[in-house]
Amino acid sequence: MNENSAFTDPYDSLAALFRALSHPARLAILEVLREGEACVCHIETLLGLRQAYVSQQLMLLRQSRLVSMRRQGWNVFYYISDPRVFEVLDQARAMLPAPLPPLPRTPASQCTCPKCRIAPQMQ
Ligand SMILES: [Zn+2]
Repeated sequence: MNENSAFTDPYDSLAALFRALSHPARLAILEVLREGEACVCHIETLLGLRQAYVSQQLMLLRQSRLVSMRRQGWNVFYYISDPRVFEVLDQARAMLPAPLPPLPRTPASQCTCPKCRIAPQMQ
């Protein structure tokens, strides 16, 4: 028996949760989803990331049960499974020595995803 197992096992699922969070792109995706469900192309547009890359990170976030998805016709929308994740992130952010600047983003008015097309920006 592994000498470390008694120590690590009780913390494995917690460590897996933090591993899922410990990636800049995944944190940025979670911040986009904080504002509501979104399709891959919406996240891709706002963050200026490639679709394949966003999809890969969303898959990891889904495997970690941080994010869920639903289909609506041809479209797939991703949403936060448990909003308590933002309590964790906000507390972590508060522990940083300096406040984080706002996330750099492309304005949603430039997005052509299904949701932004159906409900064009009112501004
Ligand atoms: Zn959009």
